[in-house]
Formats: sequence, C-alpha cells, structure tokens
Amino acid sequence: MSAEESPLVSSLDRGAATVSSLDAPGAVSAIGAGPGAGAKGSAIGLYARATPGFDERLARTVEVLRQVAADFGPGALQSTSLGVEDMVITDLIARHHLPIALATLDTGMLHDETLALIPRIRNRYGLEVEVFTPVREQVLHFVRANGEFPMTRSVELRKACCGVRKLEPLSRMLTGRSAWITGLRREQSANRADVPFREDDGQGRTKINPLAEWRWADVWHYVQLHDVPYNPLHDQFMPSIGCAPCTRAIAVGEDFRAGRWWWEDSAKECGLHASHSDAPSATESPTSATTTSHATSGAPV
Ligand code: SF4
Repeated sequence: MSAEESPLVSSLDRGAATVSSLDAPGAVSAIGAGPGAGAKGSAIGLYARATPGFDERLARTVEVLRQVAADFGPGALQSTSLGVEDMVITDLIARHHLPIALATLDTGMLHDETLALIPRIRNRYGLEVEVFTPVREQVLHFVRANGEFPMTRSVELRKACCGVRKLEPLSRMLTGRSAWITGLRREQSANRADVPFREDDGQGRTKINPLAEWRWADVWHYVQLHDVPYNPLHDQFMPSIGCAPCTRAIAVGEDFRAGRWWWEDSAKECGLHASHSDAPSATESPTSATTTSHATSGAPV
C-alpha cells in the first residue's frame, strides 16, 4: 500500500481515523487488557465520588477560569484533547458563559469516538471547536520515509510522529494566543505532580491548568452532577485517550497513563506539555527519524 493509499493519511481528508488500537503492531486487546475483560462498565459508576473539599476545589477552578477570561480576553484558548478533564473544563466555560475559544488537534489517528465529541459539544453547548490538522505533505513524507506505524520502533520515531501530527499543528493553534488552558492534573502522573494553576509555557505564553488539584473521583463526580458528555472509551478502562495506535486500556493497579505508549519506559508525554515531560527541546533533533523540519524545529513546546 502506498503512503497516499494509507488509511492513516486518507483519514486526514475525512477527519476520522480508520484504524483501531487493535490494528497497530504490538497492540494488545484494548478491552481484554482491562479489569472485567469484555465488560462494558461505566466510568461514572466506577469512579464518581464526592470527596472532602470538592466544592472548594470546584470554586477555585471557576475562579481560575474567570480570571483567565479577565486577564487574557480573546487571547485565551482552551486546547482540548476531548478527554474527560477537558470536557469538564468546556462545561465550566459554557456554564459560566466565559468568552474562551475552543480548539483541538485531529492528528488523523484519533478514535471515531473521540472525534464524535466535536458535534456533541456543538449540540450540547452551542460552542464550536476549531480543528487543527497536520500538514498533509508532511504526513505523506513521514509515512513514506518511516512506514505507517513507526512509533513502536524507537522513542525518537514516536516523538517524530508526535512532532508532525501534534506539535506542528499545536504551533499554529497557539499562534496569536497569550494563554492556553489544558486539563493537566497533578494526580495524572509523577512528572505532573507539581502542575500549578498557572505556568510559563516557555514560549511566551501562559499555560493554565484549572483542574491541577482535582482528583479522578472529582472529575467523574462533576460529570455525573452535570451530565457532561464524554468519550465512551473511558468506560472501557482508558482513563487517558490519545491516538488510536498509541492508546490501550489499563489494568487494575496500573498507572493512570500506563495505556499511553505502553511499550516505552519514557515519561509518557508527547511534547505538548514540555515542562512536564522528557520531550526533546525545540533545538534537539531525533537522531534516527526521518521527519519534516517542523517535527524538530517548528514545535513550540
Ligand atoms: S500519539 Fe502515536 S500516532 Fe499520535 S502522533 Fe504521537 S506517535 Fe503518532
């Protein structure tokens, strides 16, 4: 199959990935890897709990978001991954009528269930999500040079793929913005344990993490309270959902982000949140990957 015929490339045209995690080499059964193999559980039923301090954490989050709108105005943007934390933030933006725009990255490798949230946000909240996609020619070049699923061959190739499909479009998404809002939480992983409400992203912008102090139970408690739309893959033991070939379900006792790039021992970050990862800096180049220039030098984070 040529690069042009690749489903991973053609998906860029129609805005939906055609592969599932089961198609990727080295992938394990997404459902079978989770507790209660094959069961269709409910993340709300499993995780939602009213824990002490929830109301105070929620109030601080609302205040952080109000202050972002006041301080940055139209310069602020929610960069949503469409994961459940980001859906909570979108609900808060809509509920409190905050003038904050929404944008997301469609890498061409996302699950259909993830992309389906874009019209669900429009229908539920009347908000548009601006979608940023990779440069088609860069993806073609990368696939021709490295194959369709090079990410499992080396960390460098995986990061190069993230560079083409995530970092370059993120760079365009953030152009002209002074602040961006993410769903990072301290509880998500050891390298996110110090996430503050506000931080310098190292590129002249302020990164806002309004759920920094939220617990997993808080997130699902809020979803239950306000019937927030969410990705049904969360019901299949995928707490952290990224591109389909690079996401699997986690098992009982596994780390929250264990299902992301599970074949690696790295810090489980793609470079979008450089201050909480071991991603290469903008001046470092993957040593073995054949990439476009944007993958190694054009990324802002
Ligand atoms: S998460 Fe996987 S498929 Fe997505 S951009 Fe990164 S390496 Fe490529």
